[in-house]
Parts: sequence; structure tokens; C-alpha cells
Amino acid sequence: MLGFSRTREWVYPQSVSGRFTTLRRWTFLVLHLVLFITPWITVNGHPALLIDVPDRRLYLVGQIFTDSDTIFLLLALWFLAFTLFFVTAVLGRIWCGYACPQTVFLETWIRPVELWIEGDRSRRKRRDAMGLSLDLVWRKIAKWTVFLAISLLLAMALMSPFAGARELWTGHAGPVEYTLVAIVTAAWFWDFTWFREQFCNYLCPYARFQSALTDDETLLVAYDEARGEPRAYGPEAAAEGRCIECKKCVVVCPQGIDIRDGFQLECIQCARCIDACTEVMGNLDHPTLVHYGSIAEGEGHKVRRWRPRTVVYAALLLGIVAVGTGLVIRRVPFEATVNRAP
Ligand code: SF4
Ligand code: SF4
Repeated sequence: MLGFSRTREWVYPQSVSGRFTTLRRWTFLVLHLVLFITPWITVNGHPALLIDVPDRRLYLVGQIFTDSDTIFLLLALWFLAFTLFFVTAVLGRIWCGYACPQTVFLETWIRPVELWIEGDRSRRKRRDAMGLSLDLVWRKIAKWTVFLAISLLLAMALMSPFAGARELWTGHAGPVEYTLVAIVTAAWFWDFTWFREQFCNYLCPYARFQSALTDDETLLVAYDEARGEPRAYGPEAAAEGRCIECKKCVVVCPQGIDIRDGFQLECIQCARCIDACTEVMGNLDHPTLVHYGSIAEGEGHKVRRWRPRTVVYAALLLGIVAVGTGLVIRRVPFEATVNRAP
């Protein structure tokens, strides 16, 4: 059955706290505020954000774009693409760890609910491994019921910019909109109950091509092999600040990987392992062995934030912003009614 151990290699990430976890929580809060509040704000009598697909209109902070404004759509797509290229080249997969809806929703809603209903990692793991029992079944049903409610809430919020927040939340949207809400709810429910980290590992297109967007100077979550190895249990390694094999960085990882094995495609750069190792090594009066770094830094080279790749991306971004701003300023909106001649 779903979520029970033998059905797949299930990941049971342990809870963690620390500097980056706190930073991520604040980021998630801001993103939730944007998601839930933006569709309710009106500017000049129109929603701040409304993507009216049937009428082919986009309402964006007081501006109305129609299908004759495709140049803006093109510029917006270029802007988003080059922002992604630029940010990935400099900061790596910062999007995955801090802003991707998959990460944001799992961390904000799903893991706390799971912790609340099923307990911590060891309890969840032990209960799942024991197989069917009354205790297991009622907790799974309770958890999935809450997950379903969360999925519906998030689907409503995500559909609000398309259907209009007021219409959707007050039951005045059309059947197509509510059918889409049901589909999105089902997709999130499936993801929360079952798919989870497999989405990043097997489905996400960004994860596939991000290796082409990064280089040796890109920031990533890395293990300090020079200081950490040879890893060993015992007081000698602890005194020298080497890795003491506590595996705390492994058990907190939501992707189920060991950062000490080097850069891996599955790593979403959530920095949970940094917080875990910071706590462990901090207790031994040593700096963390897992940190934000780069391959070049690890090899003793200087890291250039401004290198040909990032300069080109930044220049293109500035160009797109300049052209877009100029076009918006010079844009003269007009409304016309065409009547058929008698
Ligand atoms: S948390 Fe730090 S000390 Fe513990 S296993 Fe990971 S790298 Fe080694
Ligand atoms: S290795 Fe560290 S940064 Fe990467 S996914 Fe796991 S916990 Fe997050």
C-alpha cells in the first residue's frame, strides 16, 4: 500500500533546524503570501494578476495585455529563461531548494503534518516496516485525509489567477474551472502521498538540463573532502574535525542521497545537510564539513562570480528589461467595438 516501506525505496527525512532552514521558512512564507493574496488584490478595478485564457487577456498590475501584445509575452518568456540561466550559473539550483512549488509545499505543509500524525523518522520507519496494523492504518488514513484537504486548498490557490479568486472561492466559477481544480488536486495528492522526490529525480526537466547551465564556479552544496577525510568513528576524528560518520547529513536529506559522495543530480540544494552538519560539528567546536561552495573552490582555485557566461546572461537580461520597459511606456491601450455593417 501507498507509503508502506516495501513498495519502493521510501525516504524518511529527519527534521532539522538551523540557519538555512530558518531562511527557507521565511522564503516559503513570502511565497505563500504572494500565492494566496495576489489574486485578491485589484489595481484600477482589475485583478493584479488574472490570466483570462478564453478571452486571451492578461491583467497584470493595472495593465491589460491582449493577443495583439504577443511581443510582451515573448519578452516575458525570454526574461524568465535568462533569469533562470543567470541564477543557475551563479547560485546553482537555488530555485529547487528555496522556491520550487514542489519543495515549498512539501516543506511547509506535508512534512509538518507527517511529523504531527506519524511521528519522527525512526517511528515512521519502524511502523511502516512492521506491516499492517490498526495503528498504522488509522494514521495513514488521517494523514491522507489532511493531505487531500491541503491539495484542494493549494489547487484553489493555484487556479485563482486563471479563474478569478472571487469567482472561484465563492462558487461562481464555471464547471471547466472546477474540473481543473479537481485535476490539480488529484495531481498534488498523488505527489504528496507517493511521488515526492521522484518528481525531481525522474520528471523535472530543469533537473535534466541544469548540468548544462552550471560550471565549476557555480555555487553548490558540497562536502569538504580535504578536511573531512578519512572519515572515522571515535574521539580522534572528532578532535581533528574530520567526519565522524554520524550520518546526520544523510538522514535529513529529502532526496535520500549522501552529499559526501560528491555532486549529484538528485541534490536540490536545500541545505538541510549543511544545517545538520553545522550542529554536529558545532558541538565539537569545528566548522561544518558540508557548506555552500564550488568545485573550483574545492580545487583551490579562485571563484569568479562575473565570468563570460554570467556577463552574457546579465547583459541579455538588461537588454530585455530595457526593451520591455520602453515598449510598456510607449504602449497606448485602446478599446474598439467592431459592428457588422447592415
Ligand atoms: S553530518 Fe558531518 S560529521 Fe556527520 S556524517 Fe555528515 S559530514 Fe560527517
Ligand atoms: S544532499 Fe543536502 S542539499 Fe542536497 S538534497 Fe540532500 S540535504 Fe538537500
